[in-house]
Amino acid sequence: MKPAAFRYHAPKTVDEAVALLAEVAAEDGRILAGGQSLVPTMAFRLARPGHLVDINGVAALNRLTVADGKLCVGACVRHAAFHRPVCDGPLGKLLTDVVRHIAHYPIRNRGTFCGSLAHADPASEWCLVLVALDGEVLAKSARGERVIAAREFFKGIMTTALRDDELLVEARLPILAAGTRCGFYEFSRRAGDFALAAAVGIYRLDGEKIVAPRLAVGGAEVNPRRIAEAERALEGAAPGDTAFRAAAAAATAAIAPMEDIINSAEFRRDLVLAVTRRALERAAES
Ligand SMILES: Cc1cc2nc3c(=O)[nH]c(=O)nc-3n(C[C@H](O)[C@H](O)[C@H](O)COP(=O)(O)OP(=O)(O)OC[C@H]3O[C@@H](n4cnc5c(N)ncnc54)[C@H](O)[C@@H]3O)c2cc1C
Repeated sequence: MKPAAFRYHAPKTVDEAVALLAEVAAEDGRILAGGQSLVPTMAFRLARPGHLVDINGVAALNRLTVADGKLCVGACVRHAAFHRPVCDGPLGKLLTDVVRHIAHYPIRNRGTFCGSLAHADPASEWCLVLVALDGEVLAKSARGERVIAAREFFKGIMTTALRDDELLVEARLPILAAGTRCGFYEFSRRAGDFALAAAVGIYRLDGEKIVAPRLAVGGAEVNPRRIAEAERALEGAAPGDTAFRAAAAAATAAIAPMEDIINSAEFRRDLVLAVTRRALERAAES
């Protein structure tokens, strides 16, 4: 099928983009970024936006910078930008480990980091990373700007705190200190498929003890989230099989997994047990 008719707009600046969005938001006007999620849904006529505001010509949005201890990822930065480390240290390495699990190479060449956040698929790897790191996003409309913390951003399946007239200008991730251990693991049925469950494990070491642990799970519930019960199991423990298994068990007990026609909640719960432990093992090896 072909998409329903729409009007196409190609702003050159952020101000033009938000002014256009203010005009067309009421007619289901949408931002077009990489188009890798929006265009297929338009082709199936699951989405029928009256207007597309294409931000690909806005040069200011195609920036990756480090400022105030944060990596800032502009709205037009593609997934493929992360094939190589974009910053020094553990964060750059974590992002290269994660990106190769997102879809396929041609999709990574067009799809954007921020588009994934705005789309908010429960299994999106970038949504999981934003939550695991307690990142934030900068949203802008003709009315002004606001910063939204990751824990406030995701509001359900493919639903975010972004208002219809807001452009997600950039995402910000805290730079991780040297020595921070990071691991990512996901399970999907085929390479390039969305994950059925995924996890990010992060911690630092104080002598032989884990400090400041973070364990976040994606793909299992409607939105990714940090699992406090699992983090408590890690805090102060020695890194290794006993602590990692205890944290994985705590994460598994804490989640309320989604089910679908193919995957039962119990199957997803089992996957969470495996992906959380493996993410922590990878962190220990990092
Ligand atoms: C076969 C296939 C496999 C895939 N596998 C994966 C996978 O394993 N993991 C994964 O995470 N993704 C996967 N994707 C999705 C892909 O990563 C998309 O690139 C991503 O979901 C959306 O980014 P985009 O830039 O293409 O956004 P678009 O498709 O352009 O937009 C998606 C939605 O977000 C809105 N939007 C986009 N950017 C902004 C912005 N800056 N401000 C406000 N709203 C905005 C749009 O209006 C639209 O509603 C897959 C896609 C395909 C086709």
